[in-house]
Amino acid sequence: MKLPAAGEITAAQDPHGLRYDGPLFFDKANLKAELHRVFEICNGCRLCFNLCPSFAVMLNTIDERDPHRAEAEGKYLGEAVIEEHEAAEKLKDVKVGTESPVDLLTEADFKQVVDLCYECKLCYPKCPYVPPHEFAVDFPRLMARSKIIEVQDEGVGFREKFLGATDFMGKLMTKVAPLANAAAHNAFNRLLMHNTIGIHKDRQLPDYASQSLLRWWGRRAKAAPPAEPTADVALFATCFVNYNDPDIGKAAVEVLEHAGCKVDCPEQLCCGMPKLDGGDLEGARELARKNIALLGDSVRAGKKVLSPGPSCTLMLKTEYPELVPGPEADALAAAVMDLSDFLLQQARAKKLPKDFKRPLGKVAFHVACHNRVQNFGYRGRDLLKWAGADVTLVDRCCGMDGTWGMKAEYFEESLKVAEKAAQAVEGAAPDDVSSDCPLAGLQLTQKTGRRSFHPVRLLHRAYFGDPQASSAPSTDSKDKDSQEAP
Ligand code: SF4
Ligand code: SF4
Repeated sequence: MKLPAAGEITAAQDPHGLRYDGPLFFDKANLKAELHRVFEICNGCRLCFNLCPSFAVMLNTIDERDPHRAEAEGKYLGEAVIEEHEAAEKLKDVKVGTESPVDLLTEADFKQVVDLCYECKLCYPKCPYVPPHEFAVDFPRLMARSKIIEVQDEGVGFREKFLGATDFMGKLMTKVAPLANAAAHNAFNRLLMHNTIGIHKDRQLPDYASQSLLRWWGRRAKAAPPAEPTADVALFATCFVNYNDPDIGKAAVEVLEHAGCKVDCPEQLCCGMPKLDGGDLEGARELARKNIALLGDSVRAGKKVLSPGPSCTLMLKTEYPELVPGPEADALAAAVMDLSDFLLQQARAKKLPKDFKRPLGKVAFHVACHNRVQNFGYRGRDLLKWAGADVTLVDRCCGMDGTWGMKAEYFEESLKVAEKAAQAVEGAAPDDVSSDCPLAGLQLTQKTGRRSFHPVRLLHRAYFGDPQASSAPSTDSKDKDSQEAP
């Protein structure tokens, strides 16, 4: 892979190598020093000790290798966390085995911490040391940087290429959807995929639709635009909605039009998140450039660009301006909004009608991590409450995180992370399960057998009373009801 141009940024401006286009980003000595520096800070802080497997492996390994140091630092004395000054008093005679606790970690340990990070980004808003603090800790970016540099040395792996080729696969598979879906449910094929591509044989995969959302949009005789539209919006469908569950996009279009919005669905490509997750920086950058151009007319026309997928929204809002710095990326980032956020704002401005045909019941609403880190509150939950649902909030990571939970080596870990979220869903005894993130929904279905719906699908059902399969658990979680769009 070609090294990127250093651009305008100097090493003094980005000494920690956090900027994709900074001169130190690909500097391996700087990366090594940064991993050591940040792990030292995290070991001292430990606020994220129970957030994810990355922190668990880092901190537990340090403690296991030198239990005296853990005691001396007052971390886990007799299973209880105590204050450092108490520990210093109690343990003043304890001999500490190393100068630096992070020296106890081997290269393989560092790699494991990096590999176990699934980029949920939950540690970023939790961290008191993120820039502009002088410590400049950006743990998710450090993990992403490590993967990108590894890929620079070794090339993009076959599985990462496969998982990152969402548009290629989506266009191909929607043409042969019945065959592709049957193949994906065939145990022999799944074993083959497990052993060759590394997609776990037991991971429930989303079916492909036989008509993509963009194709549906292209053929749809557009409804007459409202005389005085309440808003002019463009839908950024996301790959999952476009190729796997177009009903989310159709519901979004119909609900928005019901609210008097003039909707467009311009040409678009994958946001690039799967490529970035796989360490393919140039691939992600290329998609960012193309989407900025494709969505440029909508942005210049002053339209809000609405995305129903939290990870894709986050990508367009926060990563594009860093991947392709410039006024166009900034303008797109400013125009992008989460679909539920936009609908709630319309509701609060009394622009969303309340002419519901079918009441919503009890809903367990799961907050997607990539919505949580956008710091805009629980929009999907509030939207469903506004529509009359009795909502229980499920605020636990589901451990799916893009394609991470599909990978053979992380599948079991991913299910373990999802345990608490699944228990909270079951504990709510809901009529429906909802999440803005369709991949989180897949994980919840895998864990509970209950199908999850995007909030806009539930809102559509409330408005139009469409017959829809329920979230009730099925006896066979791989049966049609849990896999097929209603
Ligand atoms: S981004 Fe998520 S998975 Fe990665 S280290 Fe932070 S909390 Fe853990
Ligand atoms: S990421 Fe920040 S909050 Fe989390 S353990 Fe490290 S220093 Fe502490």
